[in-house]
Amino acid sequence: MAERLKGKTIVITGASSGIGKSCALEFARTSPEDLKLVLTARRIDTLKEIAKEIEGISKGVKVLPVKLDVSKPDEVNNFVGNLPEEFKQIDVLVNNAGLVKGMAQAPDIKPEDIDTMFSTNVTGLINMTQAVLPIFKTRPDGGRGDIINIGSVAGREPYQGGSIYCATKAAVRSFTDALRRELISTRIRIIEIDPGQVETEFSIVRFYGDKDKAKKVYEGVEPLTPDDIAEVVVFTAGRRENVVIADTLIFPNHQA
Ligand code: NDP
Repeated sequence: MAERLKGKTIVITGASSGIGKSCALEFARTSPEDLKLVLTARRIDTLKEIAKEIEGISKGVKVLPVKLDVSKPDEVNNFVGNLPEEFKQIDVLVNNAGLVKGMAQAPDIKPEDIDTMFSTNVTGLINMTQAVLPIFKTRPDGGRGDIINIGSVAGREPYQGGSIYCATKAAVRSFTDALRRELISTRIRIIEIDPGQVETEFSIVRFYGDKDKAKKVYEGVEPLTPDDIAEVVVFTAGRRENVVIADTLIFPNHQA
């Protein structure tokens, strides 16, 4: 697998914590000889610390931390336009940035939280996709590349108190499916990976920082770790080009 990832440029959104950070570390561990990682999120200081951590694992991995809010189309376009030459030829985009703001019954969800969830989880993912596809399509070695969208079990099975988040992840699923069909005759792979319960900052952010409420969600279930998801992301990206693991659902044993 290291051979197939060798020399590739991987862009990860939401790389400052949780699944995104784990993906960065897992790519670096899997292909330590020769890899380029572009780590993006809003917390640039955290990204810089992660970059140092990765450079400690291997000198063969070049890491570029970039401050980027995926919900802002201008920032996304500038990001792609301003990439240094050696990181320009993106091979893999992991569309991971996402969040839940406030778990509440639908009538009680604040308009600003609805906006944040849609503009990050859906529009942000589309912004990144639109910015990266032209790079894939105009490669000197023929149009190819991978887009790996992190959806959620919530996009398949909506639950009470999560109506807006579930709707955003259903939108991701629909967008991903349509895009895969649009690109079926190309060498571009469109992939979705849907985690179930994973313990990350997300678990607390969704309750505005209330740790007791966050803990309750995991009663009777041992949540997955972000590394569990990262291993699948890297495995999927590392298949030979003709193999598309298009749609994966991963949840912890005992999750209802
Ligand atoms: P974390 O809260 O740990 O990570 C979320 C990441 O998204 C952070 O790095 C954050 O960085 C980034 N982010 C949030 N908003 C923006 C934005 N506007 N622009 C750029 N980056 C942003 O959560 P997870 O690792 O758990 O979540 C990662 C993905 O996995 C999400 O899409 C989530 O929906 C999905 N998921 C998570 C599950 C779970 O149980 N944890 C289950 C199923 C799916 P920063 O704040 O620095 O910008």
